[in-house]
Amino acid sequence: MTAPAAGGEPMDPRSVISVRNLVKHFPIESGFLRRAVGVVKAVDDISFDLYEGETLALVGESGCGKTTTSHCVIQAQRPTSGQVLFRQDGDQEPLDLAQMAKKELKSVRRHIRMVYQDPFSSLNPRMTLMQIISEPLVINRIMRERAELQERVAELLRMVRLDPSAMNRYPHAFSGGQRQRIAIARALALSPKVVIADEAVSALDVSVQAQILNLLKELQNELGLTYLFVAHNLAVVKYEAERVAVMYAGRIVEITETEALYTTPRHPYTEALMSAAPNPDPATKDRPRIVLTGEVADPSNPPSGCAFHPRCQYVQDRCRTETPALVNVNGPGETPHHAACHFAAELDLVGIAGGRRSYTENGGS
Ligand code: SF4
Repeated sequence: MTAPAAGGEPMDPRSVISVRNLVKHFPIESGFLRRAVGVVKAVDDISFDLYEGETLALVGESGCGKTTTSHCVIQAQRPTSGQVLFRQDGDQEPLDLAQMAKKELKSVRRHIRMVYQDPFSSLNPRMTLMQIISEPLVINRIMRERAELQERVAELLRMVRLDPSAMNRYPHAFSGGQRQRIAIARALALSPKVVIADEAVSALDVSVQAQILNLLKELQNELGLTYLFVAHNLAVVKYEAERVAVMYAGRIVEITETEALYTTPRHPYTEALMSAAPNPDPATKDRPRIVLTGEVADPSNPPSGCAFHPRCQYVQDRCRTETPALVNVNGPGETPHHAACHFAAELDLVGIAGGRRSYTENGGS
């Protein structure tokens, strides 16, 4: 059954989260009276759906708005405008998290949990594993009895492949990879539906990254989790995600299935990101590397027209004045492939052939 979304199109029956026209602007203030003198357009009118059971990756350079987007989804930062529709199951009326009061959000947040980048700062060094992992259960008044909590913490530690006998130890006794497993156990304590992994493996060594990525995949299969995976590393995303959204200057510039994105990118920015990623495929291994010149777009003063135009090797006059819309470049019956480039259908861009493969400890695909 298609549930109606408040004040708009019905939610796609496959979606657990539907982000619509999301905007997050930060005012720039100046002087003693803190007068507003400008605005940083961190996220500038983006829409996407997160389908149940999938991994959708948000990718882009630092400052492109991917982390702000993920924070707006979980309402750690309140959007300036737009909707974040969430429903727990297909029959439920969607809730617009962006409109909910802080108090009401508490009950929803147990279904959407976050794993942060740095497992060294995200775990309280004064708390034992038992306290860290059981805290969400206690705060949400799901469990109170010590024996019951211990049993659940032991179960969660086993889930993330750690020995339950370690529950009375402190985080400093563990390596970076083990700490990220503890952070994942804490995120899973409330049996969430959606996990947002915000650069969850970026701070780890490459070999440890592979172990955590494999663990996340296994947990997804075991528990039916849905992931919003925020990353800048395209090699990581290629293994982890079913679909990828590429962000630039606060906007989505390309979104499609992972295989299609890697074999036939439709946006010059995606092509440039791929050209910098490790590529073991002999067919395209020697392709010339695209070196992006110029600065990343300033979100407080983005370039006119296509925000990527000062760095784009395919730029034409039109690009400097007309902002390209995000449109589907594929025909009816084909997998949707949206790109925001005036010449998306004409350019013959180079991807990384071979599609999705297993992530290896060599740091590539
Ligand atoms: Fe490049 Fe123009 Fe396409 Fe922007 S619209 S990505 S500048 S070709």
